[in-house]
Amino acid sequence: MALKEYRAKRNFSVSPEPSGAEPKKRKKGAPLFFCVQKHLASHLHYDLRLEHDGVLLSWAVPKGPSINPADKRLAMHVEDHPLEYGTFEGVIPDGYGAGIVMLWDEGTWEPLVDDVADALKRGDLKLRLNGVKLKGSWALIRTRGYGDSGGRSWLLLKHKDEWAGPVDIAAFAPLSIKSGGDFTDILAQESPDLWTSNRAAKSGAQTHMLKVVERAVAIAEENKAKAAPPARASKGRKAKR
Ligand code: MN
Repeated sequence: MALKEYRAKRNFSVSPEPSGAEPKKRKKGAPLFFCVQKHLASHLHYDLRLEHDGVLLSWAVPKGPSINPADKRLAMHVEDHPLEYGTFEGVIPDGYGAGIVMLWDEGTWEPLVDDVADALKRGDLKLRLNGVKLKGSWALIRTRGYGDSGGRSWLLLKHKDEWAGPVDIAAFAPLSIKSGGDFTDILAQESPDLWTSNRAAKSGAQTHMLKVVERAVAIAEENKAKAAPPARASKGRKAKR
């Protein structure tokens, strides 16, 4: 997949997302970048991105990565993203992927295969991650099934090693490794810049963006409430407070 597909889905005159217009030149043999962006869009998901041949190979993982080898996490192969998108954290105001992006993890990755392109073709990519939250040996395996997903369904698996464990890493370490915040913190931090830079946007764009942001905040708060420990069953106690 080329960046053509990425660009075709986005209108860069109104989006603060990097356009991918100027690919960074990487030194040969330099460690390969990887990241996971937690993306609160129409559905919360985690985007795993691996640098390869000047772009970021990308999989959308609805439940997020798990460091428990017993978990097989569905990972939908999506279009390549530009390298500079990999460190983006902020708001996508409009159109494709509209919502909030959190840089959930980043670091370097190492293919454990000789030929990444061939591994992608075969649907079996073994890799090592060296991130803040995700480390050690992993595999991306293409699956059959999930109906008409067009061969885009893969599974993300953690191999057994010293970095594996029965921990729900997405719940245990939910925040940004860039800002330390959650989605609402990112909104509070990013929104002034975004609105200023969007002054020249065509009429109606700001109103639409506000609606998207309001909705995103509502979803973020809903998720926060879900993640919070259940309120105590407090027969007789409540009245005393
Ligand atoms: Mn996404």
